[in-house]
Amino acid sequence: MRDRLRLAIPNKGRLVDPTLALLHDAGLVFEEHDRSLVAHVQNHPLDVLFVRTGDVIEFVNDGVADAGITGGDILAESGANLRTLCNLGYGRCRLAAAAPADALYQAIADLAGARVATSHPNVTRRFFADQTIPVEVITLSGAVEVAPRLGLADAIVDLVSTGSTLAMNGLRAIGDILASEAVLVAGPQAADQRADELHGIVMMLGSVMAARGRKYLMMNAPAARLAELESMLPGLESPSVIPLAHAGMIAIHSVVGTDEVWGLLPRLKAAGASGILVLPIEKILP
Ligand code: AMP
Repeated sequence: MRDRLRLAIPNKGRLVDPTLALLHDAGLVFEEHDRSLVAHVQNHPLDVLFVRTGDVIEFVNDGVADAGITGGDILAESGANLRTLCNLGYGRCRLAAAAPADALYQAIADLAGARVATSHPNVTRRFFADQTIPVEVITLSGAVEVAPRLGLADAIVDLVSTGSTLAMNGLRAIGDILASEAVLVAGPQAADQRADELHGIVMMLGSVMAARGRKYLMMNAPAARLAELESMLPGLESPSVIPLAHAGMIAIHSVVGTDEVWGLLPRLKAAGASGILVLPIEKILP
């Protein structure tokens, strides 16, 4: 067995930046150079392999890498028997069926008998077979959205995040086939033989993801208002309450959702809080 764990990650495309940000935020120190094939992580027994997003599955499946990061849609399309260790909260998109805006197709069931172009033929075939909707699947490796305009297909199944590419091509989504986000996967052998090391990576990445949507809030307040303030601050478990040198005053520390902060601040002030600090959190291990 290799002494260092090997993690395959994308070297090109839209998953590169968020993947590198996640690994760096987790505290892993490595040089990317020109994203040449291997980077040695200096402070963890881990090597990072940079490969094409679509090849990550292959590297992990063959055991060349123990684990990998790629899109959930790519994993589903490959049909490979890998273990999904965790979802990573970025690269979110959906595989959706879409048809020309002026076509009569309103829902997925209306596609019976239609020609459907996609670069995800396996997921698409499986989906329509499960729904017992007969379609002809036309496999394209790219530019799927132009297929209806070229008369190659009646509809498409493609990745969508905002829907703007569909709209630009005169298409309209008529139903979802799969929800996708970036995933951390491991090969079955590595999952068994290197379970502890992989668990360490999941914990490391999970602690960063948990921290991303949260802020640390500190404030001073009159002790007499504690119950009122506490009801606004559920925290991870409960807020920390610390007596201050001034009699009758306390400090309250709590963790809140980033989205809640602006709604909370005026209410906290109205309930007597002062000197409110909002701080970023690096990692959370519940
Ligand atoms: P790439 O083609 O290398 O840029 O990466 C494509 C992967 O990024 C897909 O397989 C998805 O997992 C993910 N992704 C996230 N949002 C989108 C989107 N709007 N279009 C295509 N891929 C997306």
